[in-house]
Amino acid sequence: MFTAFLIKYAEIGIKGRNRYLFEDALVHQIRFALKKCEGKFLVHKNQGRIYVDAEGEFDYEETVERLKNVFGISGICPVLYVEDEGFDKLCDRVVRYVGEVYPDEDKSFKVHARRARKDYPKESMEINADLGEAILKAYPKMRVDVHEPEVLLSVEIREKIYIYSETIPGPGGMPVGTGGKAMLLLSGGIDSPVAGYMIAKRGVKLDAVYFHAPPYTSERAKQKVVDLARIVSAYTGPIWLHVIDFTAIQLYIYEKCPHEELTIIMRRYMMRIAEHIAKETGCLGLITGESIGQVASQTMSSLISTNEVCTLPVYRPLIGFDKQEIVELAGKIGTFETSILPYEDCCTIFVAKHPVTKPNVNIIRRHERNLEEKIEELVKTALETKELIVV
Ligand code: ATP
Ligand code: MG
Repeated sequence: MFTAFLIKYAEIGIKGRNRYLFEDALVHQIRFALKKCEGKFLVHKNQGRIYVDAEGEFDYEETVERLKNVFGISGICPVLYVEDEGFDKLCDRVVRYVGEVYPDEDKSFKVHARRARKDYPKESMEINADLGEAILKAYPKMRVDVHEPEVLLSVEIREKIYIYSETIPGPGGMPVGTGGKAMLLLSGGIDSPVAGYMIAKRGVKLDAVYFHAPPYTSERAKQKVVDLARIVSAYTGPIWLHVIDFTAIQLYIYEKCPHEELTIIMRRYMMRIAEHIAKETGCLGLITGESIGQVASQTMSSLISTNEVCTLPVYRPLIGFDKQEIVELAGKIGTFETSILPYEDCCTIFVAKHPVTKPNVNIIRRHERNLEEKIEELVKTALETKELIVV
């Protein structure tokens, strides 16, 4: 029955020039999200609203599922379009609509008519009253409640007439692209995909970097990260995933530095390299999946050490989350099942039995000097041999 969707979005803070940027970004993201859906859609702005019109056959459930992934949408209203064939026909159609959408015919309701076209022969108030009366007559258990109706039935008179009453909740947030771009350090774990999702929800476009360590980490481990990026891209749009071969750097650190500091020093090089690519590609920040105290490299002392090598802000949206909360979010966004596939992770290969939990940043810096001879060259090579995968 439905042939279109009215897209609702929060309007706070999007007045003036911002508003048009916000709407255009949202239209763009909706078009992207619907690309893989069955059917053809026309996504358009009309008088301060966004509509998705299905052109011919389409899969309703799939379309709704995709729209629910688009940040910036607060609600999705399935709309029935009818031709204007006179008021009596409209009455019949509205009555039939109520019967179809509310088969128990037992709801409090209010009709909210709006004339976008002023040449319509009835005024809004009159339309409200007449349609209300027709509904009451057809369904004796329905009742009018103008203050807190269970069903708010909107009838908009435009070229065609739009009838809608249901709102399916959207994900909220801001359309991706309105908030700049950031570089996500994406591992194969549970946390980083969720961290990327959360920052993207605020309108930030994502690029990603993955450090792999062949042959210690397998192709399958890399494929898992590509798969995770793909799942996240259903919310964010295309992601440029930079894959860095980290093996030589890792082995060199292993050779030259105390093993209990290995993870911290490795993480510092990840941050440095990520920042380098970020700056080159116009990213305005880095994103990690860190959470205070989760592992030795994420104590507050460790975070001092990993943080100080960057000048860009590092966004850590999971910083105050418990693992269980992160797992729940990962389940909700659909990354959990992939994240728990048991492939090696470059951080776990060389990890020390007793990593430092309170690294002293001065000592870390001093030990990093052991790397002076070759590290610059190794970083340069890693950057030069970087692989780019667009997902
Ligand atoms: P995750 O579940 O995201 O892997 P984690 O609990 O395993 O996190 P760490 O391994 O300490 O935590 O990594 C902390 C953060 O560093 C990760 O959330 C991620 O942002 C980044 N990171 C770790 N390993 C890699 C990697 N191989 N490639 C890219 N980023 C990484
Ligand atoms: Mg990890």
